[in-house]
Amino acid sequence: MELPRKILVGDNVISDLGNFIMDINNGISSVIIISGETVRNKIEDNIKKSFEKSHIRNYWFIRKDASFETVSKIKIEIEGLKPDIILGIGGGKSVDVGKMIAYSIKKPFISIPTSASHDGISSPFVSLKGSNKPYSIKVNTPIGILADIKLISEAPPRLLSSGCGDLIGKLTAVKDWELARDDNNEYFGAYSAYLAKLSADIIMNKSKELLLNESGVRTIIEALISAGVAAGIAGSSRPCSGSEHLFSHALEFITHGNCGLHGERVGLGTIIMSKLYGMDFEAIIAVLENVKAPVKANQLNLTEKDVVQSLLIAQDLRPERYTILSKTKLDKKTASELAKSAKVI
Ligand SMILES: [Zn+2]
Repeated sequence: MELPRKILVGDNVISDLGNFIMDINNGISSVIIISGETVRNKIEDNIKKSFEKSHIRNYWFIRKDASFETVSKIKIEIEGLKPDIILGIGGGKSVDVGKMIAYSIKKPFISIPTSASHDGISSPFVSLKGSNKPYSIKVNTPIGILADIKLISEAPPRLLSSGCGDLIGKLTAVKDWELARDDNNEYFGAYSAYLAKLSADIIMNKSKELLLNESGVRTIIEALISAGVAAGIAGSSRPCSGSEHLFSHALEFITHGNCGLHGERVGLGTIIMSKLYGMDFEAIIAVLENVKAPVKANQLNLTEKDVVQSLLIAQDLRPERYTILSKTKLDKKTASELAKSAKVI
């Protein structure tokens, strides 16, 4: 199992970043920060003060996108700086780029999310463009996670809704894992599966309150962190990613990425896969509506053809990951009927 050593969740904790790092290892004297431009402008002054107090040298790098090309470019730029640790501050992209750089130069990584949009915050997985695999690849689990609720609350609400979609996806991901255990004798980690399911259950149970205040934001971010930790316990993305994620990856592939946010697609996929499993898919639709996440393909500008095609190719993107789509072979007609009966198209 690979688990984070320290997790701090709270209001304005970003001002205490220096102490947080020293608590993880008081021998740290030099850090590299990866972020986007907007995030840098917003929090640089605050962070610099905290580093000065803790006598930590810091070098800031802006990532353009989340691709292997950007990772290689920044790796060349940081050569000779000898950082003790890498920090990724921002949404998915900065965290993924930072996590990948840390892994490839064999340094620990601290994840500092500024939005609650997906579970990559705490998981050992990254999703980068330019890979020959359309799904995430395994690196190391972040050694620390610092989640500033105030900062995350200021992010666009759509990102929170997307985070809820990613969490709801654990319902069908865990079902797929159980199916792989039963049909294929695949290793099944009961504890990590339970933990991942718990992170979806809390969204199912509290969906009406989640967007109302900062305590809802805290619930979402804690659930996302737990889900990522479940993947760390399992040593694979199994508890967090099943047929609903394959569907999301297929949509990205077909539309070249013009298909909304990760968690939004996963939410749609979860509605369809839960219908295929005979679960209460209407309850999932109601919860996604409560958290203002899309429940129809056209809300993400997707056509019926996009959805059907994605359903048909989803399993082929990752044949070794056994899911309900391996068991139920869909054709054009049955895929269209399924999406219609799940009310997604
Ligand atoms: Zn996900």
